[in-house]
Amino acid sequence: MAKPRVAFHDFTSCEGCQLQVLNCEDEILGILAAVDIVNFREAIDEKSEDYDIAFIEGAITRDSDIPRLQEIRQRAKILVALGACACTGGLNVLKNFRGIEASMKTVYGEAAGWYETSAARPIDAVVKDDAKVHGCPIPTEEFLELVKSVLAGRTPQIPDYPVCVECKLRENVCLYHKGQYCMGVVARAGCKAWCPSYGGRCYACRGLISDPNNKAAKEILDEKGLTIQNVLDEFRLFNGVYDVAKE
Ligand code: SF4
Ligand code: SF4
Ligand code: SF4
Repeated sequence: MAKPRVAFHDFTSCEGCQLQVLNCEDEILGILAAVDIVNFREAIDEKSEDYDIAFIEGAITRDSDIPRLQEIRQRAKILVALGACACTGGLNVLKNFRGIEASMKTVYGEAAGWYETSAARPIDAVVKDDAKVHGCPIPTEEFLELVKSVLAGRTPQIPDYPVCVECKLRENVCLYHKGQYCMGVVARAGCKAWCPSYGGRCYACRGLISDPNNKAAKEILDEKGLTIQNVLDEFRLFNGVYDVAKE
């Protein structure tokens, strides 16, 4: 039986999530035994437009991206959004709040008019995706779980509980006890609480769990003298697309 043909495509991104795929060093030979990678600009020269599974990294930030993405959608039987940029628009969405013209001027100065741009959007604002691998960057374990489940025709096991669960398992002292706030209470686990484990706050780069306990989160904020606005300002960093939808 022919192996599934896999393509990686990138739009506006830092390409760190594709790098995470290449970081699966112990598993990469096993992956190559199961699939043919036919398009992966960061790793190989070959380019084929004949594929079954497309992984898309990056946000859509130019109108000229749209036909390219639609063409990929038409070719692929399965389309997977890879990383926060693709899943929620990620950091790219910040420019929508600042204003597109102001952002262009800040970055390109007098040359701003030379470049095309538009409001940043996630992949599923343009075409339907079949699965998402969350995170900035994606955890390699979750990418591998997704690949295995697609090949086996089963639903991937993606955590739908908060980062706090993993944080507690790592026996970290909660940042709220240190007078800081942290979105791990409502953010999707799966990263093994990367940021709090190294002293940083969780910014919910993996999005929110499907049923966040907002009441408990509010109680913690009240107890620590913090406001929802404190949290919302940080929520925008990776999840601003939900604000944009409301505006
Ligand atoms: S999600 Fe983060 S690591 Fe991945 S491409 Fe976007 S900015 Fe880079
Ligand atoms: S530091 Fe953050 S992730 Fe860890 S327990 Fe506290 S709120 Fe949860
Ligand atoms: S701790 Fe939060 S911000 Fe850090 S990687 Fe995990 S989900 Fe992302």
